[in-house]
Amino acid sequence: MKKILSIVFALGLLVSCTEKDSFYLIEDYSSVKKTDIHIHITADRPTFVEKAKTDNFHLVNVALEINKGWGDVYFKYNHGKNQQEQNPETVDLVTAFAVSDWDDPAWEDRVIGWLDSCFNEGAVGVKVWKNIGMVSRDSSGNLITIDDKKFDPIFEHIQQSGKTLLGHLGEPKNCWLPLEEMTTNNDRTYFEKHPEYHMYKQPGMPSHEEIIASRDRMLEKHPNLRFVGAHMGSLEYSVDSLAARFEKFPNMAIGLAARMGQVFFQTVENREKVRDFFIKYQDRIMYGTDLADNGQMTEASLVNRMDNTWKRDWEYFVTDHMMESDLINSPFQGIQLPKEVVDKVYYKNANRWFALKP
Ligand SMILES: [Zn+2]
Repeated sequence: MKKILSIVFALGLLVSCTEKDSFYLIEDYSSVKKTDIHIHITADRPTFVEKAKTDNFHLVNVALEINKGWGDVYFKYNHGKNQQEQNPETVDLVTAFAVSDWDDPAWEDRVIGWLDSCFNEGAVGVKVWKNIGMVSRDSSGNLITIDDKKFDPIFEHIQQSGKTLLGHLGEPKNCWLPLEEMTTNNDRTYFEKHPEYHMYKQPGMPSHEEIIASRDRMLEKHPNLRFVGAHMGSLEYSVDSLAARFEKFPNMAIGLAARMGQVFFQTVENREKVRDFFIKYQDRIMYGTDLADNGQMTEASLVNRMDNTWKRDWEYFVTDHMMESDLINSPFQGIQLPKEVVDKVYYKNANRWFALKP
């Protein structure tokens, strides 16, 4: 009897040791290397980067054109560059280009010349934003779409330069629903504030499906381009739709920025399904937040927001705690991914998909 008891005890120890080795703990947060692949700094202060260093985060600062032309691209890229010059080991840069001069015959050369100058400075990728497909128009008044053949030489050039295309194309599906039917509180707040982007109120505009189809046609034309779909590739509402795209496009990965609410929402509905998705596609998913510093928040509230966001998500991925978040209205349980999956989603995948030199 004694012998059996001691065997049972030894087995128990074995199980708890393996468990300890398989999963990270909350307390491992600052010692594990992490990358946030989607942040925006347009301020000169060091607050954001200092907080990232304390928390062991590498950063990818993302430039974009908010439908305001080249000045907007330069402004955002140069702020990132200043931050990178001061902290080259912590900050990497994704640049962008404008489509405001789309019909100018010199547009293509201008874009390629600008991208080359950024690549020479070490930029690792190029962002295209939702203005393409939803806001920017050519001189005849037609919306510019991402599968337009005028983009082909640009994307070809990005691919041949060994760089990555980061695409925020379309919006969350919530954008096409009335406010009260949206699944997450952050979408509801955003579209309440930005009715110009709330497609439910803009009946003449393309549907969610049309925008995604246009993105998919672009990917079909450029099978060798490394493409990272920002915001879960705008298929944040369903891990099944994402899985289908992953199967169809081997060079497509996604970032999670600003869509943890949708991940939590799907976790409420079916936690095992979401967990299986992260495990099955562990090489295709990257952590990101969309955290930003435009200089308007106090340093204390900025640091507080970064701390809350980064630690909330860490808890969700590494523990099985019951959690609550103001992003959704129901409690949900952390998915406690194995260590090696956490390492990929939080660090290794970014190095591979953006060809970073860690
Ligand atoms: Zn963003």
